[in-house]
Amino acid sequence: MAPNTPRNGTEASCPKVILLDIEGTTTSISFVKDVLFPFARKELETFLSKNWDDPSVQSTIDIIQKQSEDDTKQGLLESEIPSGLNKDVVLPELLKNLYWQMDNDRKTTGLKALQGKIWKSGFEEGLLKGQVYEDVPPAFQRWKESGKDIYIYSSGSVEAQILLFKYSEVGDLTKHLSGYFDTTTGPKIEASSYKIISEKIGVPPNTIMFCTDVSKEAYAAKEAGLQVVVSIRPGNAPLTEQELTDFPNVTNFNSL
Ligand SMILES: [Mg+2]
Repeated sequence: MAPNTPRNGTEASCPKVILLDIEGTTTSISFVKDVLFPFARKELETFLSKNWDDPSVQSTIDIIQKQSEDDTKQGLLESEIPSGLNKDVVLPELLKNLYWQMDNDRKTTGLKALQGKIWKSGFEEGLLKGQVYEDVPPAFQRWKESGKDIYIYSSGSVEAQILLFKYSEVGDLTKHLSGYFDTTTGPKIEASSYKIISEKIGVPPNTIMFCTDVSKEAYAAKEAGLQVVVSIRPGNAPLTEQELTDFPNVTNFNSL
């Protein structure tokens, strides 16, 4: 079964490169929301306690402490986190700050870096497994066998992307993947990002097929000249009639 062809479109030529979004495309949106974030919250105290003296953890704590100074100056916080290495003094205040940040869904550099470290240790210790839809591993296999290269473009950091696929529930999937892009390449809703990706991979835009669940990303990739297919998975935001007219869509990778 071929993907649904847009009513006003023509069948695209066979792509050489498959470029995939993660959330809502290879992996359910709820994995990030219901598994990754709660894991970081649950492990926060244990992780900080255990890794307190690790220089890289201390440098992240420094960033969080400096952020709390700014937040205090701006009146968002009553007081900043005390600085220094004294765990008994700093840790309780640090935890209080981090729970406050998470409750308010703040996306600060320090919090994101710390969550990344907790996920990394969770994956490496086997406490976390990356989830992908069941049609994803056979599709990876099939695409590789037919000579296509597979790349990832996600707003999660490249490091986090690799962890998800390396420590997946069905084993190491990174062997199928040729490379990873995150927002350091550019925003996912801008055509220029897809042009850069095509240059970095070294193939013309029209030989790349991008699959995503987000229509703004789909339009940006189309503007850059990529072939685009939209992903319809359980829990994704519904697409409008217009969006469904503008792009072929798939509910899994079996037909891609
Ligand atoms: Mg997505």
